[in-house]
Amino acid sequence: MDTYRRQYIKGAILIEGDKILEVDSSEALVAKAGPKCERVDLRGKWILPGLVNSHVHLSQQLGRGLGDDVSLLTWLHERIWPYESSMTEEDSYISSLLCGIEQIRSGVTTFAEPGGQFVDGMGRAVSELGIRGILARSTMDMGEGLPEKWREGTDEALEIQVANLERWNGRANGRIRVWFGLRTIFNNSDALIVRSKELADKYGVGVHMHVAEIKDEVEFSRATRGDTTVKHLESLGVLAENFLAVHTVWLTDEEIGIFAARGVKVSHNPAAAMRVLGFAKIPEMLDAGICVSLGTDGAPSNNRMTLVDEMWLATLIHKGRTLDPTVVPAEAVLSMVTREGARALQWNDQIGSLEAGKKADLVVVDPDTAAMLPMHDPVANMATSMRTENIQSVMCDGRWVYRDGKVQTVDEAAVIEEAKARACAIAERAGIRLPPRFNVQDSGGSARKS
Ligand SMILES: [Zn+2]
Repeated sequence: MDTYRRQYIKGAILIEGDKILEVDSSEALVAKAGPKCERVDLRGKWILPGLVNSHVHLSQQLGRGLGDDVSLLTWLHERIWPYESSMTEEDSYISSLLCGIEQIRSGVTTFAEPGGQFVDGMGRAVSELGIRGILARSTMDMGEGLPEKWREGTDEALEIQVANLERWNGRANGRIRVWFGLRTIFNNSDALIVRSKELADKYGVGVHMHVAEIKDEVEFSRATRGDTTVKHLESLGVLAENFLAVHTVWLTDEEIGIFAARGVKVSHNPAAAMRVLGFAKIPEMLDAGICVSLGTDGAPSNNRMTLVDEMWLATLIHKGRTLDPTVVPAEAVLSMVTREGARALQWNDQIGSLEAGKKADLVVVDPDTAAMLPMHDPVANMATSMRTENIQSVMCDGRWVYRDGKVQTVDEAAVIEEAKARACAIAERAGIRLPPRFNVQDSGGSARKS
């Protein structure tokens, strides 16, 4: 994924500490590496840069299954807001660890989190997981139906974010960064939007916002602000290179032009967008030269927090929408989760490709499974037939965080046990009761409870 799109058939990567020193033929580098250099033989495997998930809600991981087959308003007001507002910082920490494990197992070494309530809990989790994360606090200073404990003024919302940034930005050997989070135009005043962008510029970070996700949102913006979400954001002067717009499903051609002119970055979340009934105009955005990355969104919006599955969807759905089998080819999708993902997160000076001077973030793919072989067209296979189980090992910052199918940094079994207990407890506290789908026969055993 370097500038020249070089693909080595018998390649090697020379790593020192957290950095890639050189990428070349195996023959050349074996001769160059000194006798003390540890050699890892990966014959028959494929090495990719660490994948970048540009939109994933760490704190929603324990809410998986709370939002299936319901309208967006039910999803938000009766399920997700009660759930998220009933979480403690410790819940957020365990949710982040569980989500992080799913990220690692699917080859993700860097992600951007649009905003949970507890940046401290998420920060602790990212430190321990050993991967990179851009964190934000979910910020809402207005809107209907908000839980009481979330009501706060614009000043307060900004002060908390600045304090989070000063506490966490650059921590964990630079693996943690902090951005400004804006939830949606439903819940953000113009003052909050403008001042978040000003502060992001001041601190040299970015702004992460859900934009034009559903049709109702664009209509709400028109009714309350006098124009569509994108055109309103444009009139506020906040659309710029450090603005990451997520979903961007309901964009007009004119608005795609605005994004291209301003250098706005897009996070495309195919599964989550389909859940709320939309298809982002990704072929048109790519044609316009917009930087498009890929994200999973949160567990209650998609259910599979794996970029491997999003890649497969991204190669398919636009062909169906446009009736053109040549749009959004596999190599473009592979770029979205590597080079373009790194650009979207303003981190492309250090990650997103395997080349000298960049951080040693990589994924080892073992293609030898019935589901992935044969490798007639390996680049297409990575995007269309690779499964999570083909990811054999993952390195981040020069350290193996996943090796030969085992997470190296945290105790996966312990996290799973703790997560199960906490997920039930949060739903209980939030008073969320899902209607039964089938005729449940309760034998009175404890097995039914969860
Ligand atoms: Zn989201």
